[in-house]
Amino acid sequence: KVRTRFAPSPTGYLHIGGARTALFSWLYARKMGGDFILRIEDTDLERSTQASVDAILHAMDWLGLNYDEGPFYQTQRFDRYKQVVQQLLDSGHAYYCYCSKEELDAMREAQMARKEKPRYDGRWRDSQETPPAGVAPVVRFKNPLEGVVEIDDQARGKIVISNTELDDLIIARSDGVPTYNLSVVVDDMDMGITHVIRGDDHINNTPRQINIMRALGHQIPVFAHVPMILGPDGQRLSKRHGAVNVMQYRDEGYTPEALLNYLVRLGWSHGDQEIFSRQEMIEFFELSGINRAPSSINPDKLVWLNQHYLKTLPVAVIAEQLQWQLAHQQLDTRTGPSLEAVILAQRERVKNLAELVASSRYFYEAIKDYDPQAVQKQFKPETAVYLKAVHAALVDVANWDAESIHQAIQQACEALGVKLGKVGPALRVAVTGSASSPSLEITLGLIGRERSLERIQAAID
Ligand code: GLU
Repeated sequence: KVRTRFAPSPTGYLHIGGARTALFSWLYARKMGGDFILRIEDTDLERSTQASVDAILHAMDWLGLNYDEGPFYQTQRFDRYKQVVQQLLDSGHAYYCYCSKEELDAMREAQMARKEKPRYDGRWRDSQETPPAGVAPVVRFKNPLEGVVEIDDQARGKIVISNTELDDLIIARSDGVPTYNLSVVVDDMDMGITHVIRGDDHINNTPRQINIMRALGHQIPVFAHVPMILGPDGQRLSKRHGAVNVMQYRDEGYTPEALLNYLVRLGWSHGDQEIFSRQEMIEFFELSGINRAPSSINPDKLVWLNQHYLKTLPVAVIAEQLQWQLAHQQLDTRTGPSLEAVILAQRERVKNLAELVASSRYFYEAIKDYDPQAVQKQFKPETAVYLKAVHAALVDVANWDAESIHQAIQQACEALGVKLGKVGPALRVAVTGSASSPSLEITLGLIGRERSLERIQAAID
């Protein structure tokens, strides 16, 4: 059974690079009917925070990336890591190293002076020397001295690294705390991970981790290293390119469906298809479809996808997603038209959920200020006369539905002998306070008879 994992370090919010890695792991598990495991790599006690853990869990939940096991916390597994370190010491795959910092610095400097790559020279590897008194040693892994590590990377192709390139890495610090590479190996082993899908910033760790796994007699998982995400300028993605925090996209009014669709296409493709439902992503996802080259973000595409999902998602789903924006922008929709009806009227007109809420205030609240530009442009000396005629026609409307409202406005125009184009824009400003809204009959229909008439009257006065 396929088992994948997402292993974030809780040192900040979930950024879109991490979310994409999580998505790929999740998709592969779902596609293969496997399990997706969440592991919190919180061994860096200084930088890990509970707030970051919460933020990551929240963002995964918002994106709908559900996990079958976890979250597991590495800090709760220290005893197990220490046990494995001991096992490696006992089997002769690891040894104590008593080098002081000064000694290591000197080693490095000498190597640099010789224009060599700095590396630990293995001086304690098979040493018969008596350990210096009072020095707490680190534990180093005995990396094989010969041979190569071959990785058949599912995303990048074959990678071959010679063992002579790798030195004996520290697997436990002098205070006994296991290091990152050791704990990842133990976890991937214990959790039965079959496919390690992660960012290619870890590619240098992979041969080391494979060697440790081999020493422990464990089967090597399949690896897929996902290339990083770049800004539109080809530079490493950072805040100056816009939002990198997943939840900031929610704040800006994106639907999780749009962000997921956007993320899946950042570095993965299936022919030239752009729009994928969650079900299609699962069905079509292949590790071999992961691009080898880094991909650049494309904010316009995300906007386009968001508009697509605003138009096509079930209204009830959008209503649910709008709740956060409504609370955030403090718009109370309990009295007034149904939120579903407002969504239907607005969803083709807006770019995002934030805009949908911002441009729907007049359906629920009295108009506080008219848009001054709209007033200047649309309120002419003859406007009061026009609005009076419309008011009179609307008062007589029996059923306050779009069709009847439309006819009433039409009749008023005919009686006045003017085109709708002369009356409509001023009427819109009168009832919404702004120059843009859905069609007049829909807008007035939603605002309701009483409030529409009141607003028209107020504009006449
Ligand atoms: N904790 C690592 C990170 O956040 C990921 C390690 C892994 O996926 O193996 O970058």
